[in-house]
Amino acid sequence: MVHGWAMWTSLRFLLPGFVIAVTLLTTACDSKQQQAAALARNLYHFDASKALHKDFDAAAALEHLKAQVAFGPRPAGSEALGKCRAYLTGQLQSFGWEVQPQAFKEYTSKGEIEFINLRARLPMQSEASKTWERPYAMLIGSHYDTKLFGAFNFVGANDGASSTAVLLEMARLLGKRPDAAQFVELVCFDGEEALIDYTPDASGMPKDGLYGSRHYAKLMRSWPKVQQPLSMFLLDMVGDKDLLVKIPSNSTPILSQLILASAAELDLGKYFAEGSGGITDDHVPFLYSGIPSVDIIDLNYTAWHTSSDTLDQVSAESLGIVGRTTLLALEKYLSTSTMP
Ligand SMILES: [Zn+2]
Repeated sequence: MVHGWAMWTSLRFLLPGFVIAVTLLTTACDSKQQQAAALARNLYHFDASKALHKDFDAAAALEHLKAQVAFGPRPAGSEALGKCRAYLTGQLQSFGWEVQPQAFKEYTSKGEIEFINLRARLPMQSEASKTWERPYAMLIGSHYDTKLFGAFNFVGANDGASSTAVLLEMARLLGKRPDAAQFVELVCFDGEEALIDYTPDASGMPKDGLYGSRHYAKLMRSWPKVQQPLSMFLLDMVGDKDLLVKIPSNSTPILSQLILASAAELDLGKYFAEGSGGITDDHVPFLYSGIPSVDIIDLNYTAWHTSSDTLDQVSAESLGIVGRTTLLALEKYLSTSTMP
């Protein structure tokens, strides 16, 4: 993730984006097709006895984290990231998901790099041919690249691997639940990390970093409204063994409250709080595109962007806390008509 502290200053750039986001959302809701999609989502029946969060396997998530770390440093464009991508693709497919690589090239301060996002959707038996045209309600994203450091070995056990590991375990559970998964797209973003630094321009959007999410959002804006997500959950840095998720203030408030309420319902409220600053992360291009979004991130991590972001700093328990909370929030979202 991007340096949170430097981002305090960029918050003033982000705030105008909020106004734009709210305006665009109002426009989006004018779309009759999208209203129909929202209505279909609100028919989702949440059965507490079969709640998805109950079966989240934190030990399995930790294995996914370890598997990514074992590939070594995984900066955008590297061979190691290619191997990691093959692992993620194989796992998603084994859980029944169809994976669509979204590849693009961009010139960076390190030369031209090919970035590849991984989109995953669960094919529905009734309309297998429409997997990628199907209206969906929720995009759940995580970046899987690690920041490039020449001077030391950076394996990103927390920053990169943790959130992607939670995403994979959620994919396993959702793979068995098409009634919920039909409304979901899972995305592994490439190139979240800046190759040099993230400094945003006056619009609040960085030119270095968020490569994958900026590209996804740009393509998405050209799609028919009905094919765009209604909302987004972003996971980033969720494995710290000393977990405290402080939701950045540049998240959509109703979604932040949904996460906090879900955590409280699971008696995990002490691990979540409202943050007081905004940050630049993969949710920003979606906010700027009018998609309500929340960033589930624990910024208070002393090993952040150091050689110490290693396995000894993370825990299965923390992955479980975030995984279970996110799954309950998803089911509450899908079954609540007042959600954006
Ligand atoms: Zn980072």
